[in-house]
Amino acid sequence: MSIRLMNEPGVPAMYPEDLGADPGRSATVPAAAPDSTSMSSAAAPAAPYPRSAPCSQPASYPRSATYPRPASEAEIRELAALPLDELKALARKTADAVHGDRVLLRGLIEVTNHCAMDCLYCGIRRSNSGAVRYRLSHEELAETIRAGRRAGFMTFVLQGGEDPALAGEGLLRLTETARAAAGPEAAITLSFGIRSRREYEELRAAGADRYLMRFETSDPELHRYLRGGISLKRRLKALEDVRAAGLQLGSGFMTGLPGETDETLIQNILLAQSLKMEMGGVGPFIPHPETPLGGARGGDLERSIRATALLRLAVPLCHIPATTAAGTIHPEGREQMLEAGANVLMPNITPVLHKKHYLLYPGKICIDESGFQCVGCLSVRVMGRGLRLSWERGDAL
Ligand code: SAH
Repeated sequence: MSIRLMNEPGVPAMYPEDLGADPGRSATVPAAAPDSTSMSSAAAPAAPYPRSAPCSQPASYPRSATYPRPASEAEIRELAALPLDELKALARKTADAVHGDRVLLRGLIEVTNHCAMDCLYCGIRRSNSGAVRYRLSHEELAETIRAGRRAGFMTFVLQGGEDPALAGEGLLRLTETARAAAGPEAAITLSFGIRSRREYEELRAAGADRYLMRFETSDPELHRYLRGGISLKRRLKALEDVRAAGLQLGSGFMTGLPGETDETLIQNILLAQSLKMEMGGVGPFIPHPETPLGGARGGDLERSIRATALLRLAVPLCHIPATTAAGTIHPEGREQMLEAGANVLMPNITPVLHKKHYLLYPGKICIDESGFQCVGCLSVRVMGRGLRLSWERGDAL
């Protein structure tokens, strides 16, 4: 095809305003060879994993003036029509040029499954009386993070339902606990839904570095229907507030939601691009039997893989996880996402006692074992794709 997404050497990369002087990150990433579709730069040494001591060095993730540029709308439409393998190869080439062969590890901690919201798709929605509710104590959270640091994790992603006990001060105190346990070097990401601008600012001041909140779908009617009347506009306003509070911004969407069309997928990608999101999660919708959408069809793997690849090409610098939901609907779902340009894996290090109760959807993988054990398995999986795990913090580029 005719689309050339790699910049010519010396041509400014995407978002020139974001690529200002940054003394800590002046190294350059060599662009992938123009005709190469391989997943790795062959000479990269294997990662020293698992780490036995915490990494005390802040990441030195290089940035470059010759990163691939983001695809235009016309290109995104053309790319969306490509055969899957061709699309994946282009996306992986872009991921190689930005992230090389590294796959960043983030430790996911599911802090609470109490939720005041009633999203039609979600297994921990308020109305699901079958859900066994839990909330980690401060001590459990701190211990999990300390164990994570000992294992080498440099990013902790704390996620939860919109738990009334964590409204306002509650989440603030929890963030302080997390920061104290993580030490000053590790990154803390929060994902607890819509809050006020002021709250995001306070969370930032309390030690949070990043905030994740998927917009779920770019279709305003579908969004309102699925999210109990909350508008897409409100969600986007909250994302704006996250950015204004100085937090690195993550968002994303589900694929295969009931009523979604091919155009919805394109619009999702364009919205992700317009948000200039720095982290972006994509996963198939998986129907949960105890929800109003229990009988729906759910998203298939191909659509999620396509979405991942398009996201990589539309937002080249984005940190994109190979998601658990993809690994749930297919044994090699996460590997396929990596092949389609994902560059992050998030082992779930929630204490095993609680892990099985954070059931957004059924069949979730790895719930009977500690996420620390998962690292070995993941290392083998990524090596099979010519990639390697990395313990770097992996801040926004
Ligand atoms: N309360 C937070 C976290 C929500 S759970 C927030 O509002 O952002 C994290 C993500 O899981 C959601 O954003 C949604 O995209 C995904 N999710 C929820 N239910 C799901 C399902 N049935 N299948 C697949 N993904 C689901």
